[in-house]
Parts: sequence; structure tokens; C-alpha cells
Amino acid sequence: MLYLIRYGEIALKGKNRKFFVDTLTRNIKESLQGLEARIISEHSRIFVEVNKEEHDEEVKHRLQRVFGIVSLSPVSTADLSVEDIQERALELLQSSHTPPFTFKVETRRANKSFSYTSPEMNKMLGAYLLKNMLNNMEDISVDVHNPDVELFVEIRGQEAYLFLESYPGPGGLPLGVSGKGLLLLSGGIDSPVAGWLCMKRGLQIEAVHFHSYPFTSERSKEKVKELAQKLAEYSSSSINLHVIPFTEIQKEIQLHCPKELSITVMRRMMFRLGRDLAQILRAQVLITGESLGQVASQTIENMHAASIGVDLPVFRPLLGMDKQEIINKSQTINTYDTSIKPYEDCCTVFLPEHPVTRPKLSRVNEIEQNLDVDALIEKCLHNYETFPFKLTRQHTYI
Ligand code: ATP
Ligand code: MG
Repeated sequence: MLYLIRYGEIALKGKNRKFFVDTLTRNIKESLQGLEARIISEHSRIFVEVNKEEHDEEVKHRLQRVFGIVSLSPVSTADLSVEDIQERALELLQSSHTPPFTFKVETRRANKSFSYTSPEMNKMLGAYLLKNMLNNMEDISVDVHNPDVELFVEIRGQEAYLFLESYPGPGGLPLGVSGKGLLLLSGGIDSPVAGWLCMKRGLQIEAVHFHSYPFTSERSKEKVKELAQKLAEYSSSSINLHVIPFTEIQKEIQLHCPKELSITVMRRMMFRLGRDLAQILRAQVLITGESLGQVASQTIENMHAASIGVDLPVFRPLLGMDKQEIINKSQTINTYDTSIKPYEDCCTVFLPEHPVTRPKLSRVNEIEQNLDVDALIEKCLHNYETFPFKLTRQHTYI
């Protein structure tokens, strides 16, 4: 099987084009590890040739998750002669469709030196197929408006490509071209979607989870690992999940901070830990699943208070999304089923009944004096665990 890979936006990126295409090619190569497939990168096209039939499906499946790929099609190639194109077209139709059906031929001639125009090719090919497809011509007919089958023919410099189907890729930019981010990953619905959206825009990610054992169970940690695994299905390189023990900080906050401000202080500690871990990992940005006004801690004032001391950009890609939109997205990227498994989040365990929605910065700063912030942070950063996740095989094959 030969797949033709289409990439969109990256073709427009001026001087960066080569870097983008090289990164995409490398990502494709890495995501196809363990499969008998070879990449052919030529002119403005990338092809993947699968050398083992049993791997065809798995290759398709993995390519559909490589960021930067807009769509892909299994193609047949033909020499630049009408006869060869006709023969290949007939073979393709005969092997894939059983009459009766209606069809249409759609030719695109990128190579203008080819002797026939696209409409001429459409006609010649159509007539040839009608004549040769079957003995009984009534079983197939041309329908240009609403055909059952569309045969696409692309005539390019060296060869012609014929295909019937296109499968969507995730689009976006190749992973890694935008740098590296650190995702604050909880066990909820939002943060995995936030991470995925940033990956789509070319950010390689690592993830951090704050774990409050025994207030939150071992099971909730497993759930976050499962989410990291699901994100790794979209990553050619592995995704590291760093789990930071957060219990001591929670306890200190419980002891020394007024209940209604505890969430604000807690989130501030999360951002500080995120910032310091990002520095260790050389990540350039923090990513959260916050959405404006979704809960009390996601007001302008609370978000500001939480991240004010962090001299890194913070990406909140869900900021303008409604919950239902986020849920829909999590279903399409396959994180939803894991996100809705029961678990306790450190936020829910310690959630005050009436959190302040508009905290005064001066008050938060004052309260924080009750904590030995630096020592608490230092301790956490000496004590975290790291778990790497790699993409797994989705389809079984021999
Ligand atoms: P989510 O669905 O992602 O859990 P949420 O709607 O529950 O989000 P919050 O609990 O206020 O909202 O969390 C806001 C963001 O803070 C999360 O999207 C996530 O990025 C980060 N976050 C919250 N809890 C944790 C945690 N235990 N570990 C790491 N990050 C967290
Ligand atoms: Mg949450």
C-alpha cells in the first residue's frame, strides 16, 4: 500500500518550510516504529509505502494521529501515459467496488505539460471505464452530481496518482516546531483537552500532576497516567508525566490559611511548582485547562492571583470554550471515557464551601506569609516521580 500524505498550513510557512517538513517527516517516521513502512519525501509531497499488507490499517491509524497531516489517501501510481492511467484506474475500481454503482472521474493536472486537459482526461477515463468495467454496461454509469464513487486522478511531474478515498488527519503543526510546554494535568475533562490543543499547534509537552495521597487515592493517580497515555497516542516521542507529592502543602494551607482563600493559595503553589519544574525540563510555557468563569477559581482575579509570580507565559487554550464544547472535543480525542471515571481531585477534597471569586492580592500575599513557601516547594521538587508514556499499537496484526 502506498499512502499519499497531505499537509496544509506548513506549506505556507516561508523560510521555515524546510524545518517544518523535516520535522513532520521525522515525526511520521517515529510514529511508524515497529511497522514495515518507508517514507518517501519528494517535491511537495510525502508518501508512506507499507511493505506488509497486515500493517496497512495500523499505518493508516497512526498517520491519522500525526499533527501536521491534513489528510491521507491510499494511492495507485501510473506512468504519464493515458493507457497506463486507464489500466490503473480500471484495476482500482474493480478491486474496490462491486457494481451496480455510479461514478465520476475528477482529474487534476499539476503538470501542465501533460498533453490532455483535466476535462479531456475525465471524459476519456470515464468512457474507458464504462466500456471495460463489466460486460453489462448498465451496471455502472456516470453521475457527475451525486456519484457513489469518485475516482481522483492527480497528474504530476513524474507520475500520476489515482485514489478513491481520503482520510482526515488531525491538522495543525508538526509536534515540536513550536517548542515545549508543561501541562498541568488533573484527572478531569479539561486539562487533557488543553494539552491536546497545544500539541496540535506544534508544542511538545510534558505533564505534571499534583497528588495528595492519601487524601486522593492511588486510583486517581492511575487515572492521570491513563490520560497521559492517551495523549501519548498523538505524540511521536514519549510524554513524561511528573507526579509531585502535594499533601504537605495542602495540610499547611489547611492549617494556616482561611478556608475561603485556600483554593487561591493552593493554585498559586501549583503554578510556582509548575514554573520551577518547567525550568528543570526546559519547558517554555505552562498549560492549564482553565476556562473563563467555569468555576470560582477561574475568574480574572483568581487566575491573576494564581500566576502572578510566574515569569513564564501561561496558555489557557480552553478559555473561550463552553463545557459542552470541551466535552465534545474530549470525546473525539478519546480522553473522555477516562476523564469521567470516578476519582478525587485535590481541589475537590479541600474545596471550601464559599471560595472567594475576587481575592485581593494584598490579602493573598499577607496570608502566604504564614507558609514557608520556599521550603515547601524545595521539598516537593526533590521528591517527584516521572513516568514516560509512548504510543501503543492500536490495531492488532500478525
Ligand atoms: P480539569 O477538568 O482539567 O480538572 P477543572 O474544571 O476541574 O479542570 P480546576 O480543578 O479548577 O478546574 O483546575 C484548573 C486547572 O488546573 C486544570 O485544568 C489543570 O490544568 C490544573 N490542575 C487542577 N488540579 C490539578 C492537579 N491535581 N494536578 C495538576 N494540575 C491540576
Ligand atoms: Mg479538576
